[in-house]
Amino acid sequence: MEKYKLKIIEIIKETENIHSFKIEKPSNFNFFPGQFCWLNTESEDVNFTPMAIASGILENELKFTVRVWGDTTKALFNLKEGDILTVSEPQGTGIPLNILSTKKVIGIAGGTGITPIRSLIFSRTDKSLTEVAYGAKESTDLLYKNELSKLSINSYLTTEKEEPGFHNGLVTDLLSKIVPANENSFYFIVGPNPMITAVLSKLYELKVPTSHIFLSVEKFVNRDVFGPVFPLEELVNLRQFLVNLLPE
Ligand SMILES: Cc1cc2nc3c(=O)[nH]c(=O)nc-3n(C[C@H](O)[C@H](O)[C@H](O)COP(=O)(O)OP(=O)(O)OC[C@H]3O[C@@H](n4cnc5c(N)ncnc54)[C@H](O)[C@@H]3O)c2cc1C
Repeated sequence: MEKYKLKIIEIIKETENIHSFKIEKPSNFNFFPGQFCWLNTESEDVNFTPMAIASGILENELKFTVRVWGDTTKALFNLKEGDILTVSEPQGTGIPLNILSTKKVIGIAGGTGITPIRSLIFSRTDKSLTEVAYGAKESTDLLYKNELSKLSINSYLTTEKEEPGFHNGLVTDLLSKIVPANENSFYFIVGPNPMITAVLSKLYELKVPTSHIFLSVEKFVNRDVFGPVFPLEELVNLRQFLVNLLPE
């Protein structure tokens, strides 16, 4: 696995415990939205940790948005602008080119799941090919909300706490409005497993064909296996994950 030592250009404090790292992008760094990198400090003194690429193909810098949890993410939070990050070459599966280049995609995200959807938006010249349905507990947890509001895309932001300027409820509550108006669209779901389960149930209810659904499932990623992005049809055999969710 090739590794790069890349300078941190800017650190953006998205929330108290979520920071974005804007870093140098090597000239040969080719990726698809949905792929991830293994990150570490310059001296590699903690474990490498996987992080979705949040920047788009069309951007000149790389971006990762990191929630602080344990040893590695704490070590990343101690870094300053100008410090060096160790970044692996892009890993895993992403959104396939035939979808990326021409198809309308509705990104459905919870929490930091918005990061690969940001990558998707900034990988496409025609930004209106992507719409976003994004939910969080409260508006302070909604990442990139100012950026999203400035783009010429439909973004539906919802919060569990009632707040002016946002839809109220869960991301699944938005789907009855969005799906019927997007009959031939594809769907890219990224978030915690309970959210994925709830969104899939809703999409089935709204008769979205399984061939139009892509998921990012962090749980299925390790150094040797595959993922995180799967066409739903590929997952249909993994019954443990999909039990009770298969369409009738
Ligand atoms: C493909 C992929 C992409 C990812 N992209 C992102 C991203 O863009 N941004 C981001 O912030 N994170 C992302 N993650 C999750 C991230 O890799 C973990 O949060 C990170 O590995 C934690 O490492 P650590 O050493 O800081 O904490 P650890 O020491 O590994 O964990 C500390 C504690 O926190 C718990 N924990 C760690 N991560 C999570 C989590 N995600 N949810 C709930 N509990 C958790 C652990 O179970 C443990 O108890 C991604 C994971 C994968 C597999």
